[in-house]
Amino acid sequence: MSLVNELLYLLFPNRCALCGNKSTFFLCENCLSSLNVNFNRCIKCSSPIPSREGLCSICLKEKRYFLKGFSLFNYKEDKVAKIIELIKFYGKFGLIDFLNHFRKEIKNIDFWNDIDYLIPVPMHPHSLRKRGFNQAVLIAKKISEFTNKPICFDCITKTKLTKSQVGLSLQERKANLKEAFKVLSLKKDTKTVAIIDDVFTTGSTVNEIAKLLNKHSVQSYFFTLSSTPQITN
Ligand SMILES: [Zn+2]
Ligand SMILES: [Zn+2]
Repeated sequence: MSLVNELLYLLFPNRCALCGNKSTFFLCENCLSSLNVNFNRCIKCSSPIPSREGLCSICLKEKRYFLKGFSLFNYKEDKVAKIIELIKFYGKFGLIDFLNHFRKEIKNIDFWNDIDYLIPVPMHPHSLRKRGFNQAVLIAKKISEFTNKPICFDCITKTKLTKSQVGLSLQERKANLKEAFKVLSLKKDTKTVAIIDDVFTTGSTVNEIAKLLNKHSVQSYFFTLSSTPQITN
């Protein structure tokens, strides 16, 4: 959003947060319908790949502990990255309702029937206090609304205060997240869950949680709002 649009939005909240045009919702119809959910996805982790069908470079060489995942958007789309930024760093929670526009696409994902619980990726209590909310929880609440699947808020906790993953290599990301999470209280009947997060980059976070859950005989799928084309070093 340009500075002018940002000011317009502050002065006239009934304008689209992305383009500044008049809108009754945070995002106008034009911006909503320009968000693309059709791109070539890795058949395992849903990352954007160049070919129509296949595995991404990371799924080809790394052990994945999750069964499969789905990302709704390609993070490389400027508007998607902007929406996530507005929610995460500008506290515009209401924007998460833009997912109502994609209810059908989300409901159509093939693994919801297998799921017992949705597990939002937890934040470390220190980071949570700083931000005041967990964006993964906001997403999980929307998914729960669409699928009627319950959320497990206290299944997993983050016990290690990790540094930001931005700019780290695949190996550094893995090391950063190693043993960062602990199982707190898994419900007895839990066999399969869906891990929920905002951005999937190399998948180190989701993979680390899936690995931990595997040790407790729980299988994982995942849903993320967006996925980036992958870094492989
Ligand atoms: Zn707009
Ligand atoms: Zn993949």
